[in-house]
Amino acid sequence: MAIRKVRLEDDEILRKKCRTVEVVDEKIKELVQDMIDTMHDQDGVGLAAPQVGILKRVVVIDVYDDNGPYVLINPEIIKEKGEQEVDEGCLSFPNKFAKVIRPAEVTVKALDINGKEYKLKGKGLLAQAISHEVDHLNGILFVDKIIPGTMEVVTPKK
Ligand code: ZN
Repeated sequence: MAIRKVRLEDDEILRKKCRTVEVVDEKIKELVQDMIDTMHDQDGVGLAAPQVGILKRVVVIDVYDDNGPYVLINPEIIKEKGEQEVDEGCLSFPNKFAKVIRPAEVTVKALDINGKEYKLKGKGLLAQAISHEVDHLNGILFVDKIIPGTMEVVTPKK
């Protein structure tokens, strides 16, 4: 269990495409646990491996429902439905928020922490988080998708 350093907006690693995980071994499990700890430490709803400097297709999500945190290794979006306009932020862009359009419903196929394939269907915030985090694995950031003029910079609380 460890909190890892989150890479911030100007870090080039956030623009790189991540590699597929070949084997879900102890090293990947440790990465997943550290990512969950880091996400919780920063009150995030999702974190992708490149945000902690690792170019592997690993995502964790926690929308604080009864089933999370979700671990998505090699996630592949297999279905998207509808649209939602949402307020969004990112742990790599502290204090910045903007409106983006995300699918209203997303179905993703991925491996879990034991390397077993499963499907996850999300609506609302979960759909938003899946879409946002899978984008990270392809070097796509939420600032690429913002509705013009909606960016807000919030003064951090002391
Ligand atoms: Zn993000």
